[in-house]
This record gives sequence, structure tokens and C-alpha cells, in this order.
Amino acid sequence: MDDKEREEEIEESPSDSDAGERQETAEASEAPESEDQAAVEEPETCKRIRVQNLSPRQLLELDTCTRCSECVQWCPVYAQDEKDDLTPRAKAKAFRKIMRAQDGILSMLVPPDSWLARKLNLKSRQEKRIERFVQGLYECSTCGQCHYVCPSYIDTVELWEGIRKSIVSAGYGPLENQAALTSSVKSYDNPWLQPRSVRDKWAKRAKKQKQIPKVPKNISKEKAEVLYFVGCTASFDVNIKEVAVNTVKLLNACDVDFGMLGVKEKCCGSVLLRVGDPEYERLAKENIETFNGLGIKTLVTSCSGCYKTISQDYPKVGEMNFEILHMVQFIDRLIQEGKIEFKREVPMKVTYHDPCHLGRAAGIYDAPRRILKSVPGVEFVEIERHHENSRCCGAGGGLKAGFPEVQQKMSQARVRDAVATGATDFVTACPFCYQGLLVGITAEEAPLQMRDITEILTRALGVADDEEEEKGSGTEG
Ligand code: SF4
Ligand code: SF4
Repeated sequence: MDDKEREEEIEESPSDSDAGERQETAEASEAPESEDQAAVEEPETCKRIRVQNLSPRQLLELDTCTRCSECVQWCPVYAQDEKDDLTPRAKAKAFRKIMRAQDGILSMLVPPDSWLARKLNLKSRQEKRIERFVQGLYECSTCGQCHYVCPSYIDTVELWEGIRKSIVSAGYGPLENQAALTSSVKSYDNPWLQPRSVRDKWAKRAKKQKQIPKVPKNISKEKAEVLYFVGCTASFDVNIKEVAVNTVKLLNACDVDFGMLGVKEKCCGSVLLRVGDPEYERLAKENIETFNGLGIKTLVTSCSGCYKTISQDYPKVGEMNFEILHMVQFIDRLIQEGKIEFKREVPMKVTYHDPCHLGRAAGIYDAPRRILKSVPGVEFVEIERHHENSRCCGAGGGLKAGFPEVQQKMSQARVRDAVATGATDFVTACPFCYQGLLVGITAEEAPLQMRDITEILTRALGVADDEEEEKGSGTEG
């Protein structure tokens, strides 16, 4: 335990705190009651943090942290920015302290708007405590690694997201840069400040450039068995739109009866949910209503964030009348059923990055590996820290928006893992991870080509266009 930690322990030890309360109470009883003074000085209190959205289990979890520090050894953010405030043990302790200051005995004996509270500067002390806590709370990619290694089985991701919701409702979060994303979702139904009308521009352009024969059918007007939910990153990011183009090629090549929502598609709301914005529920309800009205059998998405949100978080908001699959599950099923026949060799040495929202969150590890190993010509090598210990690229949980320099360092660390395997191509199954890992490849000037798994498949099926073939034959450096 370092000096700072020892000081904090002493500061919050019960006996000390009780003594402090007794002294403050004694002072309160001696304090002159002046009505004039109360009239002149406006009552000053901190904004109240409500925790009704936290379950009894989650409130208990705050107390079950034994401060063993196992999570600290594994946290990918702490590995890049060794601030104690961002560690799970520090966050649990700090939030307990904030709650105690707000609702503990002291707050009853010395009401926050009392003369004594002002004299003791309680508001300012609590505000500083909250401000510091909020920074640590949001310097986290909600990757879930801490949950996997925690001997107390604390469901940290659910806990952080629940606390973020309380923090946003009280007006203390999210951070300024993250607020730009959330307000964009509320105004434009996407986090990238893009008008709704250009959501399907990638498809129109792909058709014009003869990458695809036609823009996929509009599922709101023409029925289809499968809805391809494109997601905001693949729809709007020019560097990532190939994920959407390749997915359409893949579905066409497999004769899948599918359609898209086009400009009517809305963000899945993951951005809002992860940073704690309660508007998420409104968006989720609207999307569920839209999806349920389409008469589809299956919703397929190539984004791991959309997949986790729709398959795991939407059911808490409303019922859905269709199955939800990530593209790797959908393709893996077609391969198992013998409905996909690869036509070409793809001579690549690849390694695979497990996206947090697909791996740790949903346990989908085998399908992408089975797919890659079944492609002729592909040599698959496993990366260090894979499956449930996959090192997060830092793109999720609002971390990239709030702390871009930390995300870059995390991405670089992951790219170094990939380079160490000797692979030429770095594959993932999430446009958000793709975007996040590209940052690291560029910063490291790594001899690696970033690929979405759909791209490997279009090449194996012989439907990749010439430009892609050329891109794939070399490496970026
Ligand atoms: S969720 Fe990931 S980034 Fe956040 S504290 Fe846990 S291990 Fe660290
Ligand atoms: S691993 Fe669990 S119990 Fe140990 S310090 Fe982290 S959150 Fe607390």
C-alpha cells in the first residue's frame, strides 16, 4: 500500500469518520442560528446522485470488492495510464464514499444546505470527489476483462454502466467529448454527426462503382427473411464502408434473401447505453418496434457492438420476434450446413482479434476461428491474450472519444501483439475494432493489413473486386 492509499484508508476509516461526524455534530449544536444569514446565503448543495437503477446485487457488489488488485494486473487501460482512480477497486471505493457523504449519518446530522455544511465546505469537497470519480469512471472501455478475473465475481461492466447512468442523470456525465457523440445520436440517429439522408450512400456508391450489382432491397417496402443491420460505423466511415460492401457481396454470393433499412436505419444506441445516457431506452424501443414490424426471421449484424446491444441489452427493454445473429454465426451456420463452397485460395497468414462485445460479452470465440481455418490457403496463428483474455483495442465504452491518446496506446499494444505472431493480416469481426486497430497500425507503422472477416470470405468466394485483390496482395507499412 503506498502513502496515498494509506492516507485514503485513514481518511475513510469508520472510527475516524465517526469521530469527524461527532465533532461536526458538536460544532453544529454550537453554531449560531442566524435567519438573516440563511436568507443572504443561498443554500448550496451538490446535485443528487440517485441509484434506483442499481439492483440490490449491484449495491452489494460495491462492498464485495476485497481490493485484491487482480483486475489491475489485467486492465488494458491501466496498463497504458497507471492512474489508480480508474481501477475497479478505486472506483468501487470512491463511489461508496460519495454515497456515504450524500446519504450517510453525517449528511443527516449536517444537512447539505445548513450553515455548518457551508462552513465546512462540504459541497466543494463532495464536488471534487465526484469530479475525480467521474474521470476514472469514464476512463474505461467497459471491456469486461476485470469481470473475468475478479475472484469476487463482480459484474463490473453492468456495474460501471449502471453507475454511469446515475451519474448522467445527476448531470455529472458524460465527459465533454463523449457528449458530442451522444447529442449526435439524439439529433441524427448516428454518432458521427452525419445527416440521416446519407446513411445508405455507401451502397449507392458501391453500385455505381460496380462493386455490387444493385442496392439491396428496402426491407420496409419489400419483405425479406433477413435484415442486414449495417450499423453506424460501417455506414458512415469511409475507411470502414468496405465492411458493409463485403457483407452485401457475401450475402449475395450465398443467395440469402435479405434487405436493409437504408436511410430509415437508426443507431442501435450502444453509444448512449455505454456512457449511461437514459435516452438509450427510447431509441431501443423505437428500433424494437421497427424490427418487429418487418416480419423477418433473422437480424444479422457485422458490428459486435450492435450485436451485443441488440441481442443482450434490447431484451431488457422489449420483446423481439426474430433471432439475432452476428455475421460470423450466420456464416458459420451456412458453412456447417454445406451451403458455402469456397472457390479460391486466400494465401494469408492471419491472426484474429476477439472483439470484447463478441468474445467476453457473448462467448463467441469458435465461429470466427472455424471460419478462418476453413478458408483454403489461410494460415491461422493465435495471438497472445485471446478468447476471454483478449486485450481490448480501446475503441469502446466511450474511451476513444474521451481519452483518444489512451486508446491509441491501447491499440498500439494490441498491434504489437499481432506483429509478434508473424502474421501479415490482422482480422477482426467488428467495424469499431477495425477502426480502433487501424489507429495502432498507423502509429506503429506496422507491417500489417487490417481485415474484416467478411473481406477474407469474399475473396475465398471469388466475389472480391480487382481493387481488393490488389490491396490484399501487399502489406501496409
Ligand atoms: S472494464 Fe476493462 S477497461 Fe474498464 S476497468 Fe475493467 S478491465 Fe479496465
Ligand atoms: S478483482 Fe474484483 S475484488 Fe479484486 S480488486 Fe478487482 S474488483 Fe475488487
